[in-house]
Amino acid sequence: MLSYLQRDRQAAGLAGAAPSGGASIALQGALASWRAVMRTRQFVVAEGDPLCGGAVRAQALLDGALSAGGGQVRILAGTMPHYSAGAGDEGHSALSTDELDRVASGTRVVIGPAGVAPTVRASLVRQGLRVIDATCPLVTAAQAEVRRFAAHGESVLLIGPRDSAVLPGMVGQALDAVRTVHDVAEAGDIRVEAPGRVAVVTAPGTPGERNRMVAEAVRGALGHVLPQDPTTYCHAASDREHALLRLAASSDAVLVLGRQNSPTLASLRNSGVRAYGAARSAEVRPAWLAGAAAVGIVAAPGASPALMADTLRALTGLGPSAVTRQVTTTLVDRGDTESG
Ligand code: SF4
Repeated sequence: MLSYLQRDRQAAGLAGAAPSGGASIALQGALASWRAVMRTRQFVVAEGDPLCGGAVRAQALLDGALSAGGGQVRILAGTMPHYSAGAGDEGHSALSTDELDRVASGTRVVIGPAGVAPTVRASLVRQGLRVIDATCPLVTAAQAEVRRFAAHGESVLLIGPRDSAVLPGMVGQALDAVRTVHDVAEAGDIRVEAPGRVAVVTAPGTPGERNRMVAEAVRGALGHVLPQDPTTYCHAASDREHALLRLAASSDAVLVLGRQNSPTLASLRNSGVRAYGAARSAEVRPAWLAGAAAVGIVAAPGASPALMADTLRALTGLGPSAVTRQVTTTLVDRGDTESG
């Protein structure tokens, strides 16, 4: 079936074979649908691992523990938010803090990147559990800021959304000194006993722009506040958000590869982007490409690198194509680069 005349006037097309009858009719229908979306097209790939550095590190520690053998590995519930067990994920399961006293001594327990309060850590040790600490170094640094300010007698306002996985562990660093501020409305109403003795720490894992708005509202309400060390900020969530916005702005439609219920797909759709999810390249539908001269492609957390390669291989067969790659990464200059 002739489908497309290329720049060099060579014909490119799709063909298939099926026994006569129903299969043949179905094949003709499928070929006609795909032929209708053959055209010159640009594919824009959002580069980079959809998991942040802290999540990748935690996953590697979990994988290492599993491959070492030695029985079940439990993951402390809520500390590894990117992780969701699928069918066939044997050898590990979630463990809530309520269950700690029913777990056999010696069981291996992973503390995920979101970290835990010192009391939880002490309970793990008391129960004789073997801790695999995958707390993200940036979370550890932010926890240390909370302890440092509290030790100097400051009240600590901890800024982060209600559902932030890091909040329980950070609040637990200095229970008496910390107060959470979830949004701008709460910040505007904030009152403290000693306005001159207030420090602000932000929850890593939340886009910095959101935290900054709340922090500015706190400053507006209280005047001067002590800031945390800015080199302890995490930029992963902002980078991911910026990468998606940039991809959406460069594309007529966006394909999200991986889990259908990924937050990436939901957030694009909530922003009004024409976005579709595919767990396999074969799930991409011709209608998704209709009228799209530029198609963005992004991997959802957990998607295999092979899925991106397969999808690009299939879609670039639909006419002359260019594949471009967008990289969105914030680099922190820590001022420790040696000059020659
Ligand atoms: S602090 Fe940042 S890098 Fe670390 S786990 Fe959270 S989002 Fe990832």
